[in-house]
Amino acid sequence: MRQQIVAGNWKMNKTLEEGVELTKAILDKINQPKGLVVVAPPLTHLQEIGRLLSTKKSFHLSAQNCHQEEKGAYTGEVSADMLVSVGCSFVILGHSERRQYFKESNATLAAKVNISLAKGLRPIFCCGEPLNIRETETHVAYVAKQLKASLFHLSETEFRKVVIAYEPIWAIGTGKTASSLQAQEMHKSIRDLVAKKYGKAVANDTTILYGGSCNAQNAAELFAQPDVDGGLIGGASLKADDFAVIVGALK
Ligand code: PEP
Repeated sequence: MRQQIVAGNWKMNKTLEEGVELTKAILDKINQPKGLVVVAPPLTHLQEIGRLLSTKKSFHLSAQNCHQEEKGAYTGEVSADMLVSVGCSFVILGHSERRQYFKESNATLAAKVNISLAKGLRPIFCCGEPLNIRETETHVAYVAKQLKASLFHLSETEFRKVVIAYEPIWAIGTGKTASSLQAQEMHKSIRDLVAKKYGKAVANDTTILYGGSCNAQNAAELFAQPDVDGGLIGGASLKADDFAVIVGALK
């Protein structure tokens, strides 16, 4: 069955103390969510925040990245096994900031998806086009290429564990949201692409989140779209009140 999910990507924000405070406020304000609530704090906070999240049903811990190798001499990196060992059940992969600043390619991301799944983490796999691609109306093909290159080698069983997050880069952190129609158009095209590869039943069960300046004001309209199954939230996930409203907008 398709799951509704709201995931908060804190990026490189909040000290441990601030993160604990935010998590407590989130747990306090969100009761009986209609779907899963995923929190992705910085690496240093995972264990502490995971412990808090585990006290309430429907709350899950995510990392923001993991290394593609199982273990070894990769100074400064963290493995999928390590993330599982501190309580993560999800990992965000392919965020546009990782693609842009850390030069993560589709091939590297395919390797990260593989190791995550092999170790029991569910990837929240990000895709999305830059502004110039949107302006030339080639965004559907651009996103299809990202998905094919990093996900479509998976078996059906593996693919069913993946959550897709469509995040148009021009909307991330810019205050410029995709309209609900733009989001729906892309989400439908992603679902159709998945149906072509894995069949209609799998496509129907695939969770596709929207991300990009989703906030307390626009979440309900975005989530009301038939192919939008929740959101990956950046800035607005740092305020418990706003995050709670967004979770409350799940259908
Ligand atoms: C993100 O970085 O995943 C994101 C959606 O950010 P924001 O909500 O701040 O645009």
